[in-house]
Amino acid sequence: MIATDSTVEILGFYVNGKWERPQGCTLGTVTNPATGAIIAEAPYAGEADIDGAVRAAHEAFPKWREVPVVDRVQPLYGYKALLEKHHAELAGILTRENGKTAEDARAEVRRSIQMVEVACGMPSLMMGDSLNDVAHGIDCKTIRQPIGVCVGITPFNFPAMVPMWMWPFAIACGNTFILKPSEKAPLTATRAVELLHDAGLPPGVLNLVHGGKQAVDALLRHPLVKAVSFVGSTPVAKYIYATAAAEGKRVQALGGAKNHLVVMPDADMPKTVEAIIGSAFGAAGERCLAGSVLVTVGDAAGPLLDLLVKRTKGLVVGDGSEAGVEMGPLVTSDHCQRVAAYIEKGVAEGATPLVDGRELKKGAPSGPGGFFLGPTIFDHVTPEMTIAREEIFGPVLCVTRVETLDEAIQLVNRSPFGNATAIFTASGKAAREYSSRIEVGMVGINVGVAAPMAFFPFAGWKNSFFGDLHAHGKDAVAFYTEQKVIMSRWF
Ligand code: NAD
Repeated sequence: MIATDSTVEILGFYVNGKWERPQGCTLGTVTNPATGAIIAEAPYAGEADIDGAVRAAHEAFPKWREVPVVDRVQPLYGYKALLEKHHAELAGILTRENGKTAEDARAEVRRSIQMVEVACGMPSLMMGDSLNDVAHGIDCKTIRQPIGVCVGITPFNFPAMVPMWMWPFAIACGNTFILKPSEKAPLTATRAVELLHDAGLPPGVLNLVHGGKQAVDALLRHPLVKAVSFVGSTPVAKYIYATAAAEGKRVQALGGAKNHLVVMPDADMPKTVEAIIGSAFGAAGERCLAGSVLVTVGDAAGPLLDLLVKRTKGLVVGDGSEAGVEMGPLVTSDHCQRVAAYIEKGVAEGATPLVDGRELKKGAPSGPGGFFLGPTIFDHVTPEMTIAREEIFGPVLCVTRVETLDEAIQLVNRSPFGNATAIFTASGKAAREYSSRIEVGMVGINVGVAAPMAFFPFAGWKNSFFGDLHAHGKDAVAFYTEQKVIMSRWF
């Protein structure tokens, strides 16, 4: 059921196959960013709640790991069918709590379904290796075994997809799981878990709790938790990595980003502009793959910026649930103010605003209480400016001009982040050199958002990732399993 802004949904925890409404917890509120209305209240888990969820997952583990993998994936097949059936409903909830457009939300749910589809292939994915006669009469094989209770802590910006980077892989490998979604956008994950219950997953295999730092800390420190998957901002990712690793847990912590889009003078300018618009202003810039620094090489800037500024000024900003809207609001009022403060800082530091998103307020899209900011483009941004260095996580694009590809590569490689980048060019040689020399984990060639599909890893580098094994793809199988080597000789 999709609620209206006049109903406030009260969320609960899902533990051991049952929904609980815990008493005495602090309640956090969830807003519709397009209207500012409070649409839900979520209880924040304390230590005792977390302990209850971890124990439920721990108790479910021995039975679940013994279910043959071909049977373990059956609930996921059923779940995939339910997600298809409820695709539009989930996308509607997502837009309502996150603000992204209906089209973008549907695409996110599609990507989430693909994660489940890949996890259904676990019988092949978790196969080991074997070699007979490694010595006379001795055979050797490796097997992959689940590790136990795994935890997922996720951000607000992909409330359907990021949880599914984690738990479908984890449980298909035979682990049990506790999901702690973002307190800013917990509704989509809640509905997704309701559907999983309907798909017939045994109690305790997947559990859901809500909350903030207190809940996260209790999960990181719980002795029965074996592995932690985190996606969020860099300072929190660093903290999660250090804290959970110090507790002896396996950790993958995906952090923030500052992604550069490099445009060569020989690029197809109209197509490049469309790709930049999608990358910089899609989801209001609230993507870890969003392009936020546009690096123009040689005389690319002139023809590119003319087209880009014109297109940006025509972008339709409004309530993402309305048809024709190209960019929705920012997730919360605080975040909207934070992004506006970065724009002020850019002006103060001497960058030239070609388009100023703060002016949108005068035009006012629908929803007077919404957290709207228009798209912003700054020209003549130098690498030392704050707006060039820090993750803004909003619809702000900084333009930096360089003379050569080599200069562009050096500029990008000086960034402490290494999540994603793109080059726009007609030259295979330039594209090859760029993708080879660049110190960034995900590279687009004439692709503005280089988002890997479910069967490839989400491969951020540097301060965009802390750990060894990345999210989804084969890395997820390695992350959620322990390898065992068995040598055998029969007399
Ligand atoms: P966030 O770091 O504020 O929150 C992420 C999660 O961490 C939430 O569940 C939150 O409850 C928890 N958390 C927040 N502060 C905490 C603290 N002090 N201690 C313990 N837990 C804490 O991130 P966000 O604002 O929800 O999401 C946006 C960020 O996520 C951006 O930086 C974006 O780049 C990043 N992100 C990265 C990827 C990636 O793949 N690298 C993907 C999506 C988002």
